[in-house]
This record gives sequence, structure tokens and C-alpha cells, in this order.
Amino acid sequence: MAAPIQARTAAQTAAPEHVREPVLAYIGLGANLGDPAASLAAAMAAIASTPGVTLTARSALYASAPVDAGGPDYVNAVVQVHTVLTAPDLLARLQAIELQAGRERPYRNAPRTLDLDLLLYGDAHITSPRLEVPHPRMGERAFVLLPLAEIAPQRVPQDRLQAVAGQRVNPYP
Ligand code: ADP
Ligand code: MG
Repeated sequence: MAAPIQARTAAQTAAPEHVREPVLAYIGLGANLGDPAASLAAAMAAIASTPGVTLTARSALYASAPVDAGGPDYVNAVVQVHTVLTAPDLLARLQAIELQAGRERPYRNAPRTLDLDLLLYGDAHITSPRLEVPHPRMGERAFVLLPLAEIAPQRVPQDRLQAVAGQRVNPYP
């Protein structure tokens, strides 16, 4: 028999997961080991195949010199998704995809087979030990701002683009 309505808990009356409004989020992708372009293509496919995530736009690929580190050039891109996942759940999924790509973190700014950053999650501002949104360093990184401006120009202020204009970021061949 169904429980009487007054016996329901707050959790039961909250909107169920499947009616959560999709949020527009942006993910930055980077890789500079192995076959970076292939890593990015595989990562985009993994993101697109995630339940609760619909990939709705992808930038072109860009090549950039490593910041504060050595190693080969990075290949970078940004994708737009509509998602019903929470920001922490989306980050957890991105980290699982990084792990599948064989990512290790031997030291800060080490070369990596795949780096996935949650850049923007709707208009949310999140500050927690494991997740900061907007991504705290995106405003200084041309390799993030250029591909983001390509698919979401309204999310990138002109003065930010001008501030990073000296950084070397080129279309990936
Ligand atoms: P970066 O991407 O700045 O080069 P890392 O990928 O090595 O650095 O940093 C990963 C750590 O950053 C993770 O432990 C993760 O919890 C944390 N982090 C905080 N905010 C974000 C975010 N918006 N996107 C991705 N990782 C984040
Ligand atoms: Mg990262």
C-alpha cells in the first residue's frame, strides 16, 4: 500500500534526478603525451557517451606551448555539454576518463596524456577543496579562452582575450 502523503520525507518530495533542469557546462581538454589529438577525440567520445550528459558543441583543436613546464606542445579544445549531473558528479566522471587515459600525477604541471577541467557550470560559483568553478586559472590561459570564445563568445570578456593575446596558441595542424 502506498505511504500516506504526510509520511513522506523531504528527500522523497524533492525533485527526482530525472526532472533536474539541464545545465550548460564547459569542459577544457588538454594533452601533450602520446597522440594528443587522438586522446582528445577519445575523451570527447567518452564525455558524449556519459549518461546524463549531452555534448552540444566542440571547438577546433589548438596547439599551445606548455605553461610553467617543459615537454611537447599541448593540444587543447573546449566542449559544451548539457548535463543533468551535479558539478561534483560531472568532475568525478571527468576524473574517471582521465584515469582511463592513463593519466598519472607524478608532480605539478607534469606532462599529461589527458587533462579535463570543468571550466563553467551554468552560472554557478563553487569553492570547495576539490572543485572550484569557474576554473580558477582559466582567465589567464589563452589555450582555454580561445577555444571557449569560439563556441561561447558571450562567456569570454574581450579584455580577458586581449590580456592573453601574447600567449602562443595556434590552430592545430
Ligand atoms: P590543472 O588542471 O590546473 O593543471 P590538475 O588537473 O592537476 O591541475 O588539478 C587537478 C585537481 O584540481 C583535482 O584534484 C581537482 O579536484 C581539482 N579541481 C578543482 N577545481 C577543478 C575544476 N574546476 N576542474 C578540474 N579539477 C578541479
Ligand atoms: Mg585539471
